[in-house]
Amino acid sequence: MNIAVIGTGYVGLVTGVCLAEIGNQVTCIDIDHEKIAILKEGKSPIYEKGLTDLMQKNIEKENLHFTTDYNEGLADNQLIYIAVGTPQGEDGSADLTFIDKASESIAAALKQDAIIVTKSTVPVGTNEYIKEKIQSALSENITIQIASNPEFLRQGSAVYDTFNGDRIIIGSDDQSALDVLEEVNADFHLPIVKTDLRSAEMIKYASNAFLATKLSFINEMANLCERLGANIDNVSNGMGMDKRIGSSFLNAGIGYGGSCFPKDTRAVISVGKDVGYDMPLLENVIGVNERQKVILVDKVMERFQEIKGKKVAVLGLAFKPNTDDMREAPSIFVTESLLDKGAAVHAYDPVATENAKQILSDKITYAANVKEALDGADIALILTEWNEIREIPLSDYKKYMNHPVIFDGRNCFDLDERIGNDVEYHSIGRPVIN
Ligand code: NAD
Repeated sequence: MNIAVIGTGYVGLVTGVCLAEIGNQVTCIDIDHEKIAILKEGKSPIYEKGLTDLMQKNIEKENLHFTTDYNEGLADNQLIYIAVGTPQGEDGSADLTFIDKASESIAAALKQDAIIVTKSTVPVGTNEYIKEKIQSALSENITIQIASNPEFLRQGSAVYDTFNGDRIIIGSDDQSALDVLEEVNADFHLPIVKTDLRSAEMIKYASNAFLATKLSFINEMANLCERLGANIDNVSNGMGMDKRIGSSFLNAGIGYGGSCFPKDTRAVISVGKDVGYDMPLLENVIGVNERQKVILVDKVMERFQEIKGKKVAVLGLAFKPNTDDMREAPSIFVTESLLDKGAAVHAYDPVATENAKQILSDKITYAANVKEALDGADIALILTEWNEIREIPLSDYKKYMNHPVIFDGRNCFDLDERIGNDVEYHSIGRPVIN
């Protein structure tokens, strides 16, 4: 099938590459000229495992093309995916500016009937709005159908997830659109759920809101464990064995970040407000997460009282491992709080440093490796559980730091490992080892 994908970010690029891989002719469109130039050279502007190889393979097979020109990108394509960003607006609602602009560009360039498929996460009702906006601007002899195909990939394993996800959701009020999308998606060999348009939009928001709730819940339990002398790892393990609860998303830490959970939870509350429905549970999920993001700094202050002039090594900046994404990363809030208190922050991340510089500029020192970050440090904070960071031997903390005091926001180490190792170790929801 001939397919256009609008937006070449984490979702759009992975979608385009994977649709090409299963045998479609795909043209990816983006308004960012620099990004398209990089893509045309066969390079990926984002860090995502396995993406570059798959992309190059399909460029060579001439299945995959890139353009900034909507006329070129939409020509002959019957299936048009929208995968532009839907960031958080100032009032917490989803900002649909990019959706609006993409819809206008589609309407201006489309010359044939097509199915528009929205991958972007959008508030319930947005797909109807997109259809109306595009259809009303087209000439009478062109008809579009609309479908929602929300995305569930996880950054860091996006290509793997596309071929190994739990389900594919397709929502439309048009049976023929559902049939076409079912056929296209059949080659991913995953369970397909067909539903109505509004329910598909809601499935995405409800899923993210639920996952965020699970994280805030376990973080709250972790904070209580600390005060009661229990160990959250043992508690999560015992809870997770109950199939009704499930073991995933029960890892306590310094809260969720990234480009989805923070904005999507706020967007759900905002759509609730629009229809006069308060959502106190989700309000508190967000509140618990806000507190959790800086909990390591609270622990540092409790331990040291004063950190002015101290060298603090920050290990990991990305919002989670295996991605270069810094959007809403807890490291931003932790680092800014440490700077406010007068600490000298030396940070290391295996891939997110360039993106971190855009946000934290020259307020901190960017270390080229773990050793540089730890060298002469008074305190070490673990913020992202990259394997490289998990695997730092305890002997390195002892060798490089003044006196090794570690605050681990991701519970990377077994407590047993710490005992007898001359390292003071604070983590989340577990006893302090010193
Ligand atoms: P992103 O910011 O990484 O990429 C968006 C891309 O769209 C950018 O390259 C931008 O230049 C391009 N763009 C903006 N306006 C355009 C226009 N008018 N025409 C063409 N291109 C345009 O965003 P993302 O992280 O890929 O997220 C996209 C959507 O998918 C969002 O709604 C997000 O909530 C949702 N989503 C994201 C993830 C994730 O893990 N990132 C997972 C599931 C769903």
